[in-house]
Amino acid sequence: MSFTSNKIQQLPPYFFSSIDKKKKELSDQGIDVIDLGIGAPDLPTPSFVIETLKEELSNPQNGKYSPYAGIPEYREAVASFYSKTYGVSLDPDTEVLALIGSKEGIANIIPAVVNPGESVLVPDPGYPVYRTSAYLAGVHAINLPLERENQYAPDFTKLSQKDIEQSKLLFLNYPGNPTSATIDVSTFEHAVSFCRDNQIAVVHDSAYSLVTYEGYKAPSILEVSGAKDIAIEMGSLSKSYNMTGWRIGYAVGNKEMIKALANLKSNIDTSQFMAIQKAASAALTSDHASVRENNEIYYKRMKKMVDALGTIGIDVELPKGSFFIWAPVPNGYSSAAFAEKVLIETGVIITPGNLFGPSGEGFFRLSMSVSNDRLDEAIKRIANLKARVK
Ligand SMILES: *Cc1c(COP(=O)(O)O)cnc(C)c1O
Repeated sequence: MSFTSNKIQQLPPYFFSSIDKKKKELSDQGIDVIDLGIGAPDLPTPSFVIETLKEELSNPQNGKYSPYAGIPEYREAVASFYSKTYGVSLDPDTEVLALIGSKEGIANIIPAVVNPGESVLVPDPGYPVYRTSAYLAGVHAINLPLERENQYAPDFTKLSQKDIEQSKLLFLNYPGNPTSATIDVSTFEHAVSFCRDNQIAVVHDSAYSLVTYEGYKAPSILEVSGAKDIAIEMGSLSKSYNMTGWRIGYAVGNKEMIKALANLKSNIDTSQFMAIQKAASAALTSDHASVRENNEIYYKRMKKMVDALGTIGIDVELPKGSFFIWAPVPNGYSSAAFAEKVLIETGVIITPGNLFGPSGEGFFRLSMSVSNDRLDEAIKRIANLKARVK
């Protein structure tokens, strides 16, 4: 007898949990492990957001069920954020939906839009949740290879006609995890036009939309004229406002997809705690000064790490978005072999690129979301790595 479904038995373990296990093993052996594999900010939630939550906690009304789609105040805050940041106007009632974090939205949008047996296009390398969510929904995931030569922009000529015909939905993600790739709005224009021609819905995951550097401003896919006909965007306060544990995000754009997702979700969850929605509204309608302060911290860390990698012969460009560095492994190593070498020789955990899809083989990801002193220590150890390669 088994109390685990076949689907779950066959699901590969969420890979960060196996890294966590390895980390514990090493720590137990007395090794001072520095984890640059982590994908969550180390910085605190801004105090004005915490203060808003504290005030809202004492209002008994907030302890009730939220409206399914999220409270009007939150949906209006998201709409106002889009209008101010991107010049995109949204109807808070039909084009905005609160999410319990964007991961939830990614998992639920697939069964809301795609039928079992149909296909979705997932960026490769990409955030692993796209692929596993497709699997859970009984939907095929087709890799859309993103290549370094092409600055990790989608190259639809890589897809076969059959794959294009079977695809119902495409995921995009810029600034990208794990690649840290950034694009300008013309990349979205191209994707929207390709997907319109081929009747494919688009979900742009904008988790790092505000985590940008050097004056770069990440566009919204909804800036493309006509994008709302086929696209939605999913955003999150996790990375910009250091609110990973608060679980709050949003989906915006195409009315039909928003409605389908809202319908599915109303049968599963009852949205987020209203006090959290109110605190998130304060964040979204703020001047984002706290985000800019955080970005300066990440940028300094990025610079130091990019320099250190250069001294051991690993050349990468300074990213313009996300808090990741995506770099090629030295000649002669697989991603896994290099990650193991780094761990054994330095005690630093890095993420092997192949965990993000087959096209990630030959790369590794470093996260800059660790405290400055731990990062300095990691940099010191990495700069001493024996493998010097050119
Ligand atoms: C962290 C992350 C998410 C999930 O964010 P939550 O809103 O906390 O669920 C989604 N997409 C990408 C690419 C991420 O890195």
